[in-house]
Amino acid sequence: MYEPGISKGIQGEPQRKVKTDLYEHHDYYMVDELLSDEHKMARAAVRDWVKQEVSPIIEDYSHRSQCPTHLFKGLAEIGAFGPSIPTKYGGGGMDEMAYGVIMQELERGDSGIRSMASVQGSLVMYPIYRYASEAQKMKYLPKLGSGEFIGCFGLTEPDYGSNPSDMITNIKDDGDAYILNGAKMWITNSPVADLAVVWAKDESGAIRGMVVERGMKGFSTPEIHGKWSLRASITGELVFEDVRVPKENVFPEIKGLKGPLSCLSKARYGIAWGAIGAALDCYDSALRYSKQRIQFGKPLGQFQLTQKKLAEMITEITKAQLLAWRLGSLANKGEATPAQISMAKRNNVHMALEIAREARQIHGGMGITDEYPVMRHMMNLETVLTYEGTHDIHLLITGMDITGLNAFK
Ligand SMILES: Cc1cc2nc3c(=O)[nH]c(=O)nc-3n(C[C@H](O)[C@H](O)[C@H](O)COP(=O)(O)OP(=O)(O)OC[C@H]3O[C@@H](n4cnc5c(N)ncnc54)[C@H](O)[C@@H]3O)c2cc1C
Repeated sequence: MYEPGISKGIQGEPQRKVKTDLYEHHDYYMVDELLSDEHKMARAAVRDWVKQEVSPIIEDYSHRSQCPTHLFKGLAEIGAFGPSIPTKYGGGGMDEMAYGVIMQELERGDSGIRSMASVQGSLVMYPIYRYASEAQKMKYLPKLGSGEFIGCFGLTEPDYGSNPSDMITNIKDDGDAYILNGAKMWITNSPVADLAVVWAKDESGAIRGMVVERGMKGFSTPEIHGKWSLRASITGELVFEDVRVPKENVFPEIKGLKGPLSCLSKARYGIAWGAIGAALDCYDSALRYSKQRIQFGKPLGQFQLTQKKLAEMITEITKAQLLAWRLGSLANKGEATPAQISMAKRNNVHMALEIAREARQIHGGMGITDEYPVMRHMMNLETVLTYEGTHDIHLLITGMDITGLNAFK
C-alpha cells in the first residue's frame, strides 16, 4: 500500500503524487529459514532499492506509458542483470535461488521493471554467455552486466508467437557475413536496446542465434504503442532489411529451437519467482486496507467474506513460495526440467493474477485508482500470463510431459 506525497514528476511535466511504499514482509511458513544469509542480503538490497527508486515513480511512469530508462544503471548496481552468471562475464556470481529472490523483489515493485532485468540477464546475457565465442562474450557481457549496453531478445514474430519453430526471419550466407531479413514483434526493450539477440533460420532451415547491433544498416526498432499492460516497460519490433551480420556475431554451435528455449527456461524460472512478488504486494495492500476501511461500523477485515479472501490469498502465496523454493533447489543442482519450470511459471502467474483481482475487490472503488498498486499489478500480470509461453501452452507442456503425447502436432 502507498501513501500520497509530493513528487518531482517527470522532467517538464506537471507534478504528480509520490507514493511512500509501506510494504511489509509476509512469510507465513517461514520459508526464509530455507534461504541463506546471502539470499536474504540480496533480497534486502533489492527491496530497499525498489522502495527508494521504483515505488515513488512507478504509477507516474505507468500512467504515461513511459519506461524509466534511468533505472537500468541502478538495476545493474544492485546485481539484477544475470545474478547467476559468473562475475567474469558481468553477472552476479550467485546461485539460482538468489536470482529468484531478486526477481521476486523487483516484481513486487512492478512486473515491467522485472521484465527489464529478466530480458537483460536471462534472454541476452545468458545466451551470449552460453553460446557465443569467448571473444564475443568479452565484447558484450561486461557492458551488459554494468548497464552500459541494453539488450533485447527477438524470437516472436507477427505471425508466429506460440509456435516460433515456423518463424520466417532468415539468414543467407554471403561470404564473411550473413544477410538477415524478417521481423520480430513484441520485443521488450527493443526501442532502447544497443543490441539484440535474434533467432533466425539459416539456409538449411536450422534456427540460429546471433547478436545484431544498433547501427547495422537495415536494422530498425519501431516502438509498439497502445498497451494497457506492462506500461512502464518499453516494447517494440525488430525489423531487418538486408542486414549484414558478421559471421563472428552468429553463435557457432547451437542450432535448433533448443537454443532460444534454453533462454526461455532461464527467464521463466525468474518469472515463477517474480509473480509471487506482485501477489505479495497486492496481498499486503489488501490486508492493510481491510484493517483501515470501516463499513457497517467495523473494519472490512472483520467480515468473514473478507477474511476468506485474505486467508485464501496467503494460502496460495505460501504454496507458490514453496514451489519456487523447491524449483530453486533443483535449479541449483542443475536438475530443474523445462517442464517443471513451465508448471511453476503457469501456476504462480495465474495465482498472482487471481490475487490481484481479489485484492482489487477488497479495495472497492479505490482499487481501480493509482492510490494503490493493485490495478497496475493486475494489468501487468495479463502480459506475464501470456509472454514467455502462454498459460495454455505451459499446460500443454505439462500434459505432454506426463502423458508422453504431443498435443502440438
Ligand atoms: C508486453 C510483451 C512483451 C513481450 N516481450 C517479448 C520479447 O522480449 N521477446 C519475444 O521474443 N517475445 C516477447 N513477447 C511475445 C510473447 O512471448 C508472445 O506474445 C507469446 O508467446 C504468445 O504469442 P502470440 O501473442 O503470438 O499469441 P498466439 O500464439 O497467437 O496465441 C493466442 C492464443 O492462442 C493460444 N494457443 C496458441 N497455440 C495453441 C495450441 N496449440 N493449443 C491451444 N491454444 C493455443 C494461446 O495460448 C493464446 O491464448 C512479448 C509479449 C508481450 C505482450
